[in-house]
Amino acid sequence: MNTDTLNINIVKTNNSKLSQVKWDELQFGRTFSDHMFVMDYKDGKWQNAEISEFADLKMSHATSILPYGQTFFEGMKAAKNETGEIVLFRPEEHAKRFNLSDERMCMPGVPVDMFIEALRALLDVDRGWVPQKSGYSLYIRPFMIAMDPYVGIRPSDTYKFIIFTCPVGAYYSEPVKVKIETHYSRAVEGGTGFAKAGGNYAGSLYPAMKGQEEGFRQLIWTDAKEHKYIEESGTMNVLFVIDGKIITPASSDTILAGITRRSVVDIARDWGYEVEERRISIAEVVEAMKEGRMTEAFGAGTAATIAQISAIHSDGVTYDLPPVEGREFSNKVLNYLDEYKTGKAEDKFGWLLKV
Ligand SMILES: *Cc1c(COP(=O)(O)O)cnc(C)c1O
Repeated sequence: MNTDTLNINIVKTNNSKLSQVKWDELQFGRTFSDHMFVMDYKDGKWQNAEISEFADLKMSHATSILPYGQTFFEGMKAAKNETGEIVLFRPEEHAKRFNLSDERMCMPGVPVDMFIEALRALLDVDRGWVPQKSGYSLYIRPFMIAMDPYVGIRPSDTYKFIIFTCPVGAYYSEPVKVKIETHYSRAVEGGTGFAKAGGNYAGSLYPAMKGQEEGFRQLIWTDAKEHKYIEESGTMNVLFVIDGKIITPASSDTILAGITRRSVVDIARDWGYEVEERRISIAEVVEAMKEGRMTEAFGAGTAATIAQISAIHSDGVTYDLPPVEGREFSNKVLNYLDEYKTGKAEDKFGWLLKV
């Protein structure tokens, strides 16, 4: 392993918790692997890269991350292929997006090579935590936080870049009923919607809770200006199949450029489907549902890969969509992506990195 550039200090624990994992009862995001990667930003540079036992973080109660939320994160996955090698799905894309987020949040960049090196080193130490079981994977959570113990508002001078990981089981998501939201907004033009900034998620909790009280698991966000155009579904990108064509809102500064959505679109085109990445209005979606021309609707994101939408509510009316079992494209692409991410399918697009 090359640790020349980061000079990672590796302190392995003698107290592995791997044998205590109850694989049949794994809940998403509640079981943590033995080790974590932590690096400090101080005096204008990254330093003290270390891999050590997953532990609590000690900091001043005045730390600027706490009230002001200068933070952002990534979410990605690794799995083991049939020969036991660890495969990471599109890590460079996550590293690039990490740097889009850090720039928008006024936080220091992490060169792609450095990001990948940290990931590789951590996965190498926690090799045993990367599941080989069908349907299981290792969820990876890289993030950065502002660390100055200072009450004033300005970009922090010090930061921590942290990566920890969680083994996760098959993220089976029930088909969800969603509501098209035309009052609250997730993101605004000129805002932080394209970044995985902490505040975006904090701000969506209240509208999401309101929607849940009305019986909808998730909201379909619309543009903040006119509330006429579809943006995302919950914390996932959204795709529709209308008249046999795949239609999905194009990425913008209010629509996060999801790597799952990108992959689904690339695969669809490769399979010969017609794909349109463009603005799509509520009116177009409702008309297609009324006329039975919308055959599939789903969210796309790393955690679930594909989250089927069973019904869409708009302006007082709930439209049921065709049963999930018969959905040709989304079922096929979910299966293919599962095989791809676990190294069972050929790496046709060059998306896998072996550790
Ligand atoms: C992370 C995220 C997505 C999905 O991105 P992936 O790269 O596919 O995981 C979509 N929308 C929002 C708001 C997100 O935070």
